[in-house]
Amino acid sequence: MTQSSVPFLPFVRPDIDEETIRGVADVLRSGWITTGPQNQAFEAALSEFCGGRPVRAFNSGTATLEIGLRIAGVGPGDEVITTPASWVATANVILETGATPVFADIDPQTRNIDLDLLEKAITPRTKALIPVYLAGLPVDMDRLYAIAREHKLRVIEDAAQALGSTWKGERIGKLGDIVSFSFHANKNLTSIEGGALVLNNEEEAVLAQKYRLQGVTRTGFDGMDCDVLGGKYNLTDVAARVGLGQLPHLERFNAQRKKLARAYFAGFAGGVAEKLGVGLPLADFENSNWHMFQITLPLERLSIDRAGFMGALKERGIGSGVHYPALHLFSLYRARGFKEGMFPHAERFGATTVTLPLFTQMNEGDVARVCRAVNELCEQYGR
Ligand SMILES: *Cc1c(COP(=O)(O)O)cnc(C)c1O
Repeated sequence: MTQSSVPFLPFVRPDIDEETIRGVADVLRSGWITTGPQNQAFEAALSEFCGGRPVRAFNSGTATLEIGLRIAGVGPGDEVITTPASWVATANVILETGATPVFADIDPQTRNIDLDLLEKAITPRTKALIPVYLAGLPVDMDRLYAIAREHKLRVIEDAAQALGSTWKGERIGKLGDIVSFSFHANKNLTSIEGGALVLNNEEEAVLAQKYRLQGVTRTGFDGMDCDVLGGKYNLTDVAARVGLGQLPHLERFNAQRKKLARAYFAGFAGGVAEKLGVGLPLADFENSNWHMFQITLPLERLSIDRAGFMGALKERGIGSGVHYPALHLFSLYRARGFKEGMFPHAERFGATTVTLPLFTQMNEGDVARVCRAVNELCEQYGR
């Protein structure tokens, strides 16, 4: 199979139907394009999805995390514990509040924060926890909240990748403390850019709304006050209409992702890649929404580096990505004293992981093609 005979397979592609595109055109023609009725409808639909809890939509999943921390009262002098294996936003928002990020290494099997290490990282200054559900796989939620209760800590769940994931049959977002979702173009549900916070009560929802728009409260036709320092994080109605059009398809989207993930496991079973030591994700078909399918390369057994491997996939018409380099090794975090060797599992994962194509419009034949390419490259470069 040559590159010219098959279309390029990206690692991700949004799935937006014609009905949604028409709906967006209607919003554009309606005369109300920024935050308005579509935003309200999107929030109501998300709230229903999360068991009726209050939901507020934002223009990004980064904004939701930061505002979640602010609502939890996190600020200078506080420590917040999170994972070094995440998109850098997860830790950046802690710095934004003036608090101190504290990392605990991952469990190499789940690739999520190791809850034993998280518990050991708690100090008298710890105020909150940000667990991340990498690729949509939740942590042990019972254990997480037992720790939070015992140490009286707030939890801001970075569920950016976990919309539609479950724990013991209940959706992520239905239970827990503050829950943050992202609707970035690559997520299982997109509003192009966007995010949502699931909150505990109306008081928190009102605060979220203030932080979302300059801290302003309006009353009557002409009353206005500003009593907290808010920002500019509101979601446009155009974006909200995209998200609203996606939500009815989410279960189908996630079922298709699950089917493709199963095809990956089948495609790799007993092959050259597996024998060489290519690492696969935890085969969780109960809780995960299969946001991504990330393998790890046994680089010590390959005569090619990761960039070379990704380039060779690209030559075969296959896109791939890296999610994520261990974030404590970025310059901003090194400057704060973090260095190699502190979180070896996250470092190893970050240095060897490759995200393979997984999106709703793929079929099992596409997966087989990716598995074949990975196996061929392992055959070619394995030693
Ligand atoms: C996407 C993502 C975010 C940030 O969401 P944006 O909408 O891009 O701001 C945060 N954390 C994780 C784990 C993510 O995947």
